[in-house]
Amino acid sequence: MIQRYMDLEDRLRVRPKGFRLADHDPEDTMGMDKESSEKQRAKDLERLDALQERLYAEGTRSLLVVLQAMDAAGKDGTIEHVMSGLNPQGVRVTSFKQPTRTELAHDWLWRCQLALPARGEIGIFNRSHYEDVLVVRVHDLVPKNVWSRRYDQIVEFEEHLTENGTTIVKFFLYIDKDEQRERFQARYDDPTKHWKFALGDLEERKRWDDYIAAYEDALSKTSTDAAPWYVIPANHKWFRDLAVASILEATLDDLDPQYPPAEELPEQLVID
Ligand code: AMP
Ligand code: MG
Repeated sequence: MIQRYMDLEDRLRVRPKGFRLADHDPEDTMGMDKESSEKQRAKDLERLDALQERLYAEGTRSLLVVLQAMDAAGKDGTIEHVMSGLNPQGVRVTSFKQPTRTELAHDWLWRCQLALPARGEIGIFNRSHYEDVLVVRVHDLVPKNVWSRRYDQIVEFEEHLTENGTTIVKFFLYIDKDEQRERFQARYDDPTKHWKFALGDLEERKRWDDYIAAYEDALSKTSTDAAPWYVIPANHKWFRDLAVASILEATLDDLDPQYPPAEELPEQLVID
C-alpha cells in the first residue's frame, strides 16, 4: 500500500520543470482495475476518517484541499465520494462562483481567506483562488500585467499558510475533451441533470486549448514542495476517487496528528 502511494504520488505530482499536460493521460489507471480498487478505496476512506478525528482533536493544524478542473471533470463527485466518510463538523466545503460585488470590492484573495479552514479543520475549495489565473486569464477579465503577477502572489500566500500550520494539497482533475463531450451530452439527455448544465459551458468548451495553456502555466508556476499540485487522471471516476483518497490519506498520515494529552485526572474516578 505504501508502495502504491509512492507510485501514485510520484507519477501524478507536478514537477515544474518542463511540465506539460500532454505528458499525462486522462485515461490512465496505473495498471489498477475497478474491482480490486473498491477495497482499497474503502480502506483509504476509513483511514481518512480516523485521521480526521485526530486532526480535529489535536486542534492545532489544518488541511486545505484545492480542487480545480474543466467543467464536468468531477469536482462535485469527488467531494461526494471521497469526503463522505468525514465528520461534517470538521469540514468546510466552499464552492467559488463568479465573484459577487462585495467580493470584487476587495483584494482578489480576500474571499479565499474568509473560507480558510480553522485549526483542526479540513477545508475544501471547489474551485479556488486559481480561477483568478484561469477563467480570468482566458477571458481577459483583468489586464495581463495584473493576472501575470498573481502566480508569485499565490506562491507567497500559500507559503504563508503552510508556515503557519495549514498543509495544502491541490488536485487538477484531468479529463479529455471527448470525455467532456460525453458527460455534457449525458447531462443534456437527463432532465435530472439539467441543473448541472448551462449553454455557457459550451462557450467555455470552445476555449479548451486556452484553458489547457492556462492550467499548464498555473500548475507549473505554483507546484511547490509546500503546496504540491497533482494531476489526477479523471476519465475513470473510480480511479479519480481512488487517487484523490489515497493522496489525501497519505498527506494526513505524514502529518500524523495526535490526540492532545489528557488533563490531570485523579487516579480513581467514579462518575455518579
Ligand atoms: P460552477 O462551478 O459550475 O458552479 O461554475 C462556477 C463558475 O464561476 C465557473 O464558470 C467559474 O469559472 C466561475 N468563477 C469562479 N471564480 C471566478 C472568478 N474569480 N472570476 C470569474 N469567474 C469565476
Ligand atoms: Mg458548471
